Amino acid sequence: MKVLVLGAGVVGVAAAYYLLRAGHEVTVLERREGPGLEASYANGGQLLGETIQPWLAPDVPAMALRNLARADAPFRARFSFDPERWLWGAAFLRNCTAARVARITADLRRLSVYSMAMLSELRAAEPFDFDHSSLGVLRLYRDGGKFARSADAAMKEENPARRPEHLSWQDCLALEPALGSSRVRFAGGLHFHQEETGDAYKFSAALAAAAERLGASFRYGCTIERLIQTGAKVSGVKTGDGEESADAVLLSLGCESAKMLRPLGLRVPIYPVKGYAQTFAASPDGAPKLALHDVAHKTGITPFGGRIRIAGTAELDGFDKRADPRRAAAMLDDLMEILPNCGDPGQAELWTGLRPMTPDCAPLIGRTPHENLYLDTGHGSLGWSLACGSGRVIADIISGRAPEIDLSGLTIERFFNGEQQNG
Ligand SMILES: Cc1cc2nc3c(=O)[nH]c(=O)nc-3n(C[C@H](O)[C@H](O)[C@H](O)COP(=O)(O)OP(=O)(O)OC[C@H]3O[C@@H](n4cnc5c(N)ncnc54)[C@H](O)[C@@H]3O)c2cc1C
Repeated sequence: MKVLVLGAGVVGVAAAYYLLRAGHEVTVLERREGPGLEASYANGGQLLGETIQPWLAPDVPAMALRNLARADAPFRARFSFDPERWLWGAAFLRNCTAARVARITADLRRLSVYSMAMLSELRAAEPFDFDHSSLGVLRLYRDGGKFARSADAAMKEENPARRPEHLSWQDCLALEPALGSSRVRFAGGLHFHQEETGDAYKFSAALAAAAERLGASFRYGCTIERLIQTGAKVSGVKTGDGEESADAVLLSLGCESAKMLRPLGLRVPIYPVKGYAQTFAASPDGAPKLALHDVAHKTGITPFGGRIRIAGTAELDGFDKRADPRRAAAMLDDLMEILPNCGDPGQAELWTGLRPMTPDCAPLIGRTPHENLYLDTGHGSLGWSLACGSGRVIADIISGRAPEIDLSGLTIERFFNGEQQNG
């Protein structure tokens, strides 16, 4: 079959690779000059399987309200008359009940565990470098009460594969000596040794090159204007260069997905949630070898080869990618407080990216009501962790095979029948 993959972020590239391995003729259309240059470019790099969690939690609505006015708060929504923003925000908050969080986490976990297995297979088949590390992530707690509650819940996990190692501050220093110069004395930490890290941009670029070698065609600088509908079918796309037809069209356009689907009468609540990342050369003496997560400030600090990156924050600000200098400065100040000798923050490359988020934090994978049109999009804050599993699942579906995992809670139908809160 001739398959068009729309979008060469980490999600589209992974799907293209698995489609190719399933024997299809694959063409990827991407408006940027290469793969992985939008949300996948400088993300936090953390790869979560068993320990995946949506951003939803029963205490999130109160925390969001408390923080709305603070320029340096981890979550911020800017005022706007855009009804989509408020509908999306309200739906997100309604998904924060304990029952919904439990169900959504279980749905996400089936996919994330599968995704990590797919990534491990892929690493063996395509041994390219993407600064992968299996040393785990150390979550650091500033507040003793929060640390005790989180540790208690984590240690009670029935499945040992989800349990972290419980560490006092002294234990944290022994595990990660770079914390020895920290000006913050954390209450303690939980070491999730099962978590991995890697550079999603390097991965996207290397996997796209591998797919090209296997026969995929990548057309960069190609803007898709609309999907072409012929009766009940989607038969191709109209691009700036003309029309392209195909037997199947897979839409992986990240934040642009909702806009592209609207003319077909498909309303999907994917909204951009802005995040920041700052990356610079790591000093060999002061940079950590482990990835860290500052729980209170909701930032990830990840070493990638010779670089260090701090990433985080969530801003509802529409498609505006401008960085607020106060938020950017607050992040770097935090990093230098925790790791004063990790490198020269004056050299940091500041980047913002828009996470393609649904209000239940889960992606949309599978067929649509339109024949030949498939979705693999809406991966929000977890797209790097979920890309390989999602790609394999959608390649199976397009090939007419049953996916190896149950997709409950991860398909477009949940937004038709009200199973989850829509925007
Ligand atoms: C600050 C930050 C930190 C993050 N940290 C993590 C993390 O630690 N772990 C994790 O798992 N996830 C993380 N994420 C989330 C992850 O990066 C995203 O979920 C993932 O990159 C989404 O990939 P995507 O391919 O769906 O979207 P994108 O990478 O945005 O790709 C979509 C592609 O479609 C193209 N496109 C759009 N419209 C058109 C058009 N009309 N024509 C042609 N091409 C088009 C775009 O140019 C783009 O290349 C983070 C995100 C951010 C912003």
